Amino acid sequence: MHGPDVSFSFEAGTRIEGELGRTGVITTPHGTIRTPAFVVVGTKATVKAVLPEAVADLGAQAVLANAYHLFLQPGFDIVDAAGGLGRFMNWPGPTFTDSGGFQVMSLGVGFKKVLAMDTTVPDDEVIAEGSTRLAQVDDDGVTFTSYLNGDTHRFTPEVSMRIQHQLGADIMFAFDELTTLMNTRDYQERSVERTHAWAARCLAEHGRLTQERSHRPYQALFGVVQGAQYEDLRRQAATGLASLEVDGHRFDGYGIGGALEKENLGTIVGWVSESLPEDKPRHLLGISEPDDLFAGIAAGADTFDCVNPSRVARNAAIYTHRGRYNVNTAAYRRDFGPLEDGCGCYTCTHYSRAYLHHLFKAKEMLASTLATIHNEWFTVKLVDDIRDSIEQGRFVELRTEWLDRYQRG
Ligand SMILES: [Zn+2]
Repeated sequence: MHGPDVSFSFEAGTRIEGELGRTGVITTPHGTIRTPAFVVVGTKATVKAVLPEAVADLGAQAVLANAYHLFLQPGFDIVDAAGGLGRFMNWPGPTFTDSGGFQVMSLGVGFKKVLAMDTTVPDDEVIAEGSTRLAQVDDDGVTFTSYLNGDTHRFTPEVSMRIQHQLGADIMFAFDELTTLMNTRDYQERSVERTHAWAARCLAEHGRLTQERSHRPYQALFGVVQGAQYEDLRRQAATGLASLEVDGHRFDGYGIGGALEKENLGTIVGWVSESLPEDKPRHLLGISEPDDLFAGIAAGADTFDCVNPSRVARNAAIYTHRGRYNVNTAAYRRDFGPLEDGCGCYTCTHYSRAYLHHLFKAKEMLASTLATIHNEWFTVKLVDDIRDSIEQGRFVELRTEWLDRYQRG
């Protein structure tokens, strides 16, 4: 059993010339993460359809689960009793949990996250005016109704910290208010202030829980920078969190959250990175498509998570270096080549497009497993290649070559 002396650190490595991006190493009680790194999403303490051994084999360094979902089911006390998230789900490596704020508000208030890859989301889904609001935000926290059984719950910064401490992930996020691009400037200003006040309460509760649970491995806490598309608000939020200290506790790193349009992603991440200390890691919360990784990394984000590689895989959408295609279409019925030529993943080295096509048509469970392995491998490998390119001083060449091929299709 680790004591509280086993802590968390980040060491920055090679910088991309003329950019804010860099390589680095995050050290956690459950192992190291070489950055930039793609963190695979396992929302409910499972990467859907894939065994943890396969997740490790495809090169994933860390897994991110969701505090809100695990709070509702099975309950954080059960995960705690199991010895924490990693032990519960048989993932020995580093783990993350997000604060639950995004799910509380997106499922509850009735909007979806507007992110780079989600430009096809219809307007009425962005903010569902007139729909039944399942969450109410006030200055103290959020009251929401469970989507599972209609029970009413309350999340506050203290509750989120308590849940995340009991879930036991190596990296946790402060409870923040998520806004959308649809909110007014006035609302965004008030929201940034509210998120800052919540961040201070999170640090205080985190300090208290760290002491109370000193028999458990140290858990790092990241503050979350909001501020939507406004440069002054983003910088104000980042500077405020960077200087925040409560009872001797400071944030171990930072999350970059909120609504980001694809074309502004690099710019916004750049404002935030410039305003944050260089010796702390930065996690970009939720990106949409593989090509966005280049913009995020160049602008200084160290780690990323995205649910899309597995989500789209379950709908037969396959990532390749020439864009995405659907293996469900008739063209692949007799195609005995791999999902992508030259891919080294388990799926591509053992199975054909025709077989995947058949599995999807027959609605066999193995379809999701094999497609997910390929898409997660593709994304993890891309970030690994980007990391290598930074170390070798050829990031710009890789970006030009990669994006040109990807966008030509
Ligand atoms: Zn593959």
